[in-house]
Amino acid sequence: MPKFFLPLTLCLFSLLLISLTQPSLAHSNTADPWAPTPTDLKKALPNTRSQPLRLRPRTQLPPLPDDQQGIIRKVSPASEQPVLALTFDLCELATSTSGCDMTLLGFLKAQNIPATLFMSGKWMRTHKARVKLFLQHPLFEIGNHNWSHGNCALLPLKDLEDEILWTQAQYELIREELAGEITDPTKLAKIAPVPRLFRLPYGRSRPEALKTIAALGLTTVQWNIVGELGAVTNREQARRYAQSLASMTVPGSIVLFHANLVPVGTALLVEEYTRLMQAKGYRFLTVSELLQLGTPQRVQDGYFSSPGDNLHLDRRFGRYGTGLR
Ligand SMILES: [Zn+2]
Repeated sequence: MPKFFLPLTLCLFSLLLISLTQPSLAHSNTADPWAPTPTDLKKALPNTRSQPLRLRPRTQLPPLPDDQQGIIRKVSPASEQPVLALTFDLCELATSTSGCDMTLLGFLKAQNIPATLFMSGKWMRTHKARVKLFLQHPLFEIGNHNWSHGNCALLPLKDLEDEILWTQAQYELIREELAGEITDPTKLAKIAPVPRLFRLPYGRSRPEALKTIAALGLTTVQWNIVGELGAVTNREQARRYAQSLASMTVPGSIVLFHANLVPVGTALLVEEYTRLMQAKGYRFLTVSELLQLGTPQRVQDGYFSSPGDNLHLDRRFGRYGTGLR
């Protein structure tokens, strides 16, 4: 056997292995638009503090009637049907860019699990290509989470109005750009002209802010279950957390998670939690679908699990919670 035969064989074998494994990696991003990419990571995309190109949305929503004001924490579905809404916040401060958890969102899409995504307007601008992808998928409903995550308990009302309306306007701009790219008009007709749901950053509010949000036609939706108890680093931990969440879940629950890669491990937790809830016979709905099925339970104060448990957040995260100092 020639001396070079073994090295040559090994070399060819390695090349074969590379050619078998690399194409799927190399092509995964182009073949599957839902696959995670490096630009989905936190701080991967450049930050800009400028205002959106449009400051007020063209579509204005009618103010909510008095009996629909306040904060929805859960829904009581007729006949206690086993339904729940998964919600994911995509928060972004003025001072940096956050991520987009495509492992998580790709999982929801692959499993056909609907969800409501509450996006900061600035996050929408940073992750415009991702927003276009979600807009075209009927599984996902998009809500407003303020422009740069401003704290509604602290923001002067004029600034609060800007945070909300800049986000509505940014959504419209992306929808309009998408309209120029998709050829099927029936597809565009299915995409809401502007978001109708609002989520309080830090879960914080005050009565005047709730009035402003309602006057702008947006329904404030929080949660009755905090999904993330911290970072999840392995499947065993995800299973334990998921079991604890499942034991708290009741029909009509609204569950809070994040899809901006803060904290880490949410994808694993959601995978385990959804599996458990499906085994219990639960169906997942968007918040708007859930609201159609029963009576919303409202409160007048924003919090995580009990009133006042988020007050300490007022002293962190800079000016009015936007990160600016
Ligand atoms: Zn947030």
